[in-house]
Amino acid sequence: MTRAACVIGWPVAHSRSPLIHAYWLKRYGIAGDYRREAVPPEEFAAFLGALAARGYVGANVTVPHKEAALALSEPDDRARAVGAANTLWFDGVLRSTNTDVEGFLANLDAGAPDWDRDLGQAVVLGAGGAARAVIYGLIGRGAGRIVVVNRTPSRAETLRQRFGARVRPARWDERNAVLADAVLLVNATTLGMQGEPALSIDVGRLPSRAVVADLVYVPVETPLVAAAKARDLRAADGLGMLLHQAVRGFALWFGTTPEVTPDLRALLEADLGAAARNPPR
Ligand code: NAP
Repeated sequence: MTRAACVIGWPVAHSRSPLIHAYWLKRYGIAGDYRREAVPPEEFAAFLGALAARGYVGANVTVPHKEAALALSEPDDRARAVGAANTLWFDGVLRSTNTDVEGFLANLDAGAPDWDRDLGQAVVLGAGGAARAVIYGLIGRGAGRIVVVNRTPSRAETLRQRFGARVRPARWDERNAVLADAVLLVNATTLGMQGEPALSIDVGRLPSRAVVADLVYVPVETPLVAAAKARDLRAADGLGMLLHQAVRGFALWFGTTPEVTPDLRALLEADLGAAARNPPR
């Protein structure tokens, strides 16, 4: 029987996951299928309850269902710590994890080897779901201090309570001042994304060995990534994270650990480039 997985979201048309998984299915000669499922919040629990009956061996979950997916499955430690699940599979019961954590780390490992050596101070912009995955990953790699800079201060404070004293909340207007001691700067806000306001930050304040990571992937080369490269800093973009976070789901559903190749990246770049030229109205 053809194994099938899907991405569940509301809306879901923008998701690039079908493109990624279709590429791997073809490349590894697997007779599988990966579909989009547009499911409104009020129907999500029922949809998940009938996931196997619908013929699915698992699913990705995107906005706005990541917290509900956590509550409706058996999460692993990282999904529980992050407070959101994005990958589901059956193993007797419906299990879940959060692959944004490994996507973030693997992308840096691939693009900026040894980025985590002497990981003193990291600065994370943002305090939403993506920032939680980043912070969890950074703690696992031994970050000494993680300065969380967020527009809404109470959300950064909540992360200190969640992840402990290594997290230091800072005000949004302090974002340039905290860069001088940072070996890693991560943008986990929506700023810089197509259709969103620009991110105003001075990467000139970072030490020369610092690494910059942007989670935003439309456009692929954000102004932040471009500014980092212009300063000869190593930079990891959001597309790389998106590709790396997809690996685990594919392995769980289809039994082969796929590779993130230049070909796959080029395919996504072309698709995202086309989207940037013809933005949705
Ligand atoms: P979220 O939960 O909605 O959080 C958004 C964050 O952006 C919040 O910290 C918010 O601050 C901040 N923000 C929004 N507008 C702002 C503004 N005008 N000025 C300052 N801060 C602003 O979103 P999320 O799920 O964490 O996602 C964040 C980004 O990561 C998105 O761009 C998403 O596409 C990207 N992402 C990428 C990947 C990948 O694989 N590359 C994976 C996951 C997420 P407040 O708290 O003050 O509202």
